[in-house]
Amino acid sequence: MPAAMATVQRLGLLQAILRQRCPRCREGRIFRRRLTMYWFCPVCELRFLREPGYTTVAIELSYIFTIPILLGGTVFFMAVLHLEIILAAVAATILFVVLSPLVFRYSRVLWVYLDQRLDPGR
Ligand SMILES: [Zn+2]
Repeated sequence: MPAAMATVQRLGLLQAILRQRCPRCREGRIFRRRLTMYWFCPVCELRFLREPGYTTVAIELSYIFTIPILLGGTVFFMAVLHLEIILAAVAATILFVVLSPLVFRYSRVLWVYLDQRLDPGR
């Protein structure tokens, strides 16, 4: 396939989520700055933020990432670095703080995708 055709091809679902793109057109970015979302898709004008407080559910979705990082990180640091549980938990917390911008963004991206699946398009 010519390279020019590949660039106009629509992103796959997983690729669009990983690249934080619009769930409808899969081109427009969801975030305009590091921690700031667009209200509307800059390409297809799908409304990402439907109402004030819309991202509250994303906070709950962030547990999908937070719990594995904290628990998995603690177990990892205990098993691999042979740290005591308190030090392993502190190391896992530091790891979580470092990863928290990604947790913030991907929990919102997942919420936008889930919400669009449950209540498409407006
Ligand atoms: Zn779009």
